[in-house]
Formats: sequence, structure tokens, C-alpha cells
Amino acid sequence: PCTLGGYPSYALNISSVAQIQLAVNFARHSRIRLVIKNTGHDFNGRSAGAGALAVWTHHLKDIRVIEKYASPSSSYSGRAVKIGAGVQAFELYEAGKKHGFTAVGGEGKTVGIAGGYVAGGGHSPLSSIYGLAADQVLAFEIVLADGRFVTAREGENEELFWALRGGGGATYGVVTSVTFRVYPVMRATAVQFSFASNSTGGGVSTEAFWGGVRAYFDYFIPNTEAGTYSYFSIAGTQPGEFVFNMLPFFAPNMTEVETAELLRPWLDDLEGLGIGVDPVYFPADNFHDAWDAGFPLEAVGGSAAKTGARLFPRKNWEDEGTLNATFDAIRYPIEGGGMFLGFNIAAPGRGGFPDNAVNPAWRDTVLHAIAVIILPDPSPEAIAVQSEKLTMDWLQRWRDVSPGAGAYMSEADVTEPDVQQSFYGDSKYPRLYALKKKLDPYGLFYAPTAVGSEDWYVTDQIEWLPTQNGRLCRV
Ligand SMILES: Cc1cc2nc3c(=O)[nH]c(=O)nc-3n(C[C@H](O)[C@H](O)[C@H](O)COP(=O)(O)OP(=O)(O)OC[C@H]3O[C@@H](n4cnc5c(N)ncnc54)[C@H](O)[C@@H]3O)c2cc1C
Repeated sequence: PCTLGGYPSYALNISSVAQIQLAVNFARHSRIRLVIKNTGHDFNGRSAGAGALAVWTHHLKDIRVIEKYASPSSSYSGRAVKIGAGVQAFELYEAGKKHGFTAVGGEGKTVGIAGGYVAGGGHSPLSSIYGLAADQVLAFEIVLADGRFVTAREGENEELFWALRGGGGATYGVVTSVTFRVYPVMRATAVQFSFASNSTGGGVSTEAFWGGVRAYFDYFIPNTEAGTYSYFSIAGTQPGEFVFNMLPFFAPNMTEVETAELLRPWLDDLEGLGIGVDPVYFPADNFHDAWDAGFPLEAVGGSAAKTGARLFPRKNWEDEGTLNATFDAIRYPIEGGGMFLGFNIAAPGRGGFPDNAVNPAWRDTVLHAIAVIILPDPSPEAIAVQSEKLTMDWLQRWRDVSPGAGAYMSEADVTEPDVQQSFYGDSKYPRLYALKKKLDPYGLFYAPTAVGSEDWYVTDQIEWLPTQNGRLCRV
């Protein structure tokens, strides 16, 4: 028979704050599980929960430009945009094009901006110049676990304001709107190209292929210092053969000529290795058009893969031996049949960053790396074997070459061994947990790996295969 699995039993299609308050009060009084769902994009089931009541924020689509926002302490005055909890990246960027502003949001076209994305930090094609999405927030409006509707910003609920910027979603309440600072219109250029090995067919040898990828790593620091962001993948095509896809390289504030100039040293290296590439440039006089042309529309959902991630620290690039060890650790899962997704990014932003709950590992990285293990056999036992392999073999090698670093909570491994250190940072977790206890003593908001999740467990689990299909119980 069909079952709902980890999906909630009922979902409320929310159109007002009052409806959220009713749902929160009802769930708290009735002691039923409450789930907040925005796009449902979460990789790790954080917007799922069997038997739950879901608050579905998708239709909170208001976008309002504020011409003169002034923060209480005058730390910011200028243009801002206030968006409802359901606004997605493409909607925010379309509004930016229409009203003449540039906003820091995701590369993913359909990702929700005001929910799990910004709560987790949120990386952006503009992060190497402006920082993370969480760094742009001026104010949140939120329904708390006790049903109160409050604002969190400078001078008002400041501890909550700190925590909501990086401390993760589904923890302190249901965010109903976020106000972001915005930037002037900027030109940008996106570039796509790919290269592959074809050693059996007499083309690029496997050695030359890896040499070409390794050469790229030498430009990670200068490229982020130039303000760029790249999104690339590496995967096997057949045994012993690989393909690299630049999905794109994204250069804010740069023309096509300037972008080509920045890429030239690496493209020359590739040519020297006998690897020909044919870059396609998408220059535009505004962010939206370059982003829209350059980034793929990614598929969402599916149960045929598991992901894990690491924010590799910049210091690994400062010593040849450590960089080679890092590169070998990254190669290992790809040669073992996995897929690799990389983001060359620096996230302090050029003007520094505010004090917020963002994972400290974000401030120190030049590579947000994702490993994907494919799960061809759908039996739970077979999935558990692959899941353990990803966590304890592939990703352990990544952890071994980056001790003390972390992982981006929203694209990481649901079975990561030390989530508190890795997703939040040891220096920040106790503060986040104390606020959780204060604002949500009921434990109304729960999500796997979220702050306070260690106080709960889900029944009927198979080791290495956590699901949200069971009952949620207090430890
Ligand atoms: C196609 C795709 C593209 C992506 N692109 C990017 C990218 O460019 N940059 C990046 O950093 N990440 C990206 N991600 C990862 C993304 O940030 C996470 O999946 C994130 O959790 C999505 O948040 P959501 O609110 O859209 O999704 P959901 O799955 O609906 O929610 C995620 C979590 O946030 C909670 N939540 C949602 N709304 C609220 C709210 N209003 N108040 C409180 N909690 C809430 C949910 O309960 C859940 O725990 C992408 C993911 C996908 C699938």
C-alpha cells in the first residue's frame, strides 16, 4: 500500500501572519508535530515530518522596495527590499531588474530566499564581493513558538536577530518576511565551458585531465579576490574517464573582455596540457540577465543520491603540499564513482561582515565542496551501506585534510558526525542553544541537524539512513 512516508499529514496553504499564529498555537496546545515548509528544497528532510501539520509559506510572495531604509543605529541607510517568506530567487532577481537594484540571493533559480536559505547563511554568485545573504539582512518578522509576532533587527530582539542570520531554519519560529539591503545595478558576465578526458579514444589523457583541474585550483584565491564565484562539477563518464563542467564562472562587475582576461592564465595552462576549451560568454548590463543565462535550472527532489560537503579553508591553498593533499582527497570520491560539485567562493565580503550566527568556517573558505554518492539500489540496506561510505570514507578524507573546518549546513551530510562544530562552530553553538531553550522551551520547532535537535529522536530508524518517517520523541 502507498504511505505518505515523511510527508506531513496536513498542510496549511498560508496567506497571512494570523494563520501562522493559529497553526503555531494549535500545534503547541495539541502537542502535534509542526513542520515549516517553503520550497521543500532541503536536501536533508528538514522540511518533512510524518504525521505533522505543515505551515506552507510558498504563497507569501510580497516584494516591496524601501527607498530609504534607516537602521536604528544608523549602521545602514539606503535602499532595501522587504520580501515575504515564499519569495524565490528568480522572483527577487526579476524585481531587481524591474526596480533597478541588485540583491544577494542564491544561484539556484527556484530556491526560497527568506526560509532555510538565508537562515543557513546562504551563498550567492555575489558572495565574493558582498558576503552571504545572511549578512545583508536588516530585519526579520517572525512568529515565535508562543504565538507572538515580533520583529528582530538592530535594537529590537537583538539576540534573535543574531541567531536568525546563520543559525538555521525551523528553530526559533516561522519567519514571515525578511528585509535585505540591496546594491546598485551592476553588469556581470557568466561563462560556461567543459573539458573531458578521452584516453581510450586517443584524446586528452586522464593525467592531463587531472592536471587541468589541478591547475584551476591554483587560481582559487586570486579569482575570489577579483570578486568572482564559480560553480563547477566533475564526474566520471565511463571507467577511467572524467568530465569537468564550468556551470558557470560568474564575474560580477566585469565585462566579457575583463572576464576572459581573468580566465586567461588557467585557459593557457589547459592549452599547454593539450586541452582545448570553447568558453561561451554571457555578458549583461545587469545581474539578472547574466545570472539567468549562465546558471542551470536544477532538478529538485529524488531519492537516488546522498550529499555531503566541506568548506575547505583558504590556508590549505597557501602551502603546496597541503593543497596537493586536499586535491587528492577531493579526487578520491570522484575516482570512486561519485560526483563532485564545487563553488569557488570567498564569503567575508569585501567590506567585512557583521557579527551574526553564520558558521565561522564560511569566513575562511575558498571552496565549498559537495560530494554526491549515487544510490542505484533502492533497498534500505544497500542505501545504508553507501551512506556510511560517503560519511566515513569519502568525507572523512576531506575532514582529515581540513581539521577544525566545517560544512555548509544546507548542502551537507545529514549523518555528519559532529554537527554542532561542523555546521555552527563550537564558539557559536552554546549561544544558539541557550536562545533555543529560552524561546522554544516546548520544542515546537524541530528539524534534523537543527539547533536543539539533539534533544529529540525519530523512531523506526535504520542506521546510516535517517528518515522523518517515524514518530518524533523527546530523548
Ligand atoms: C535547486 C536548488 C538550488 C539551491 N541553490 C542554492 C544556492 O544557490 N545557494 C545556497 O546557499 N543554497 C542553495 N540551495 C540549498 C538551499 O539553501 C537549502 O535547500 C535550503 O534549505 C532551502 O530553503 P527553502 O526554505 O527554500 O526550503 P525548505 O525545504 O522549504 O526549508 C528548508 C528549511 O528551512 C525551514 N524554513 C523554511 N521556511 C522557513 C521560515 N519561513 N521560517 C523558519 N524556517 C523556515 C524549513 O522548516 C526547513 O528546515 C539550493 C537547493 C536546491 C534544491
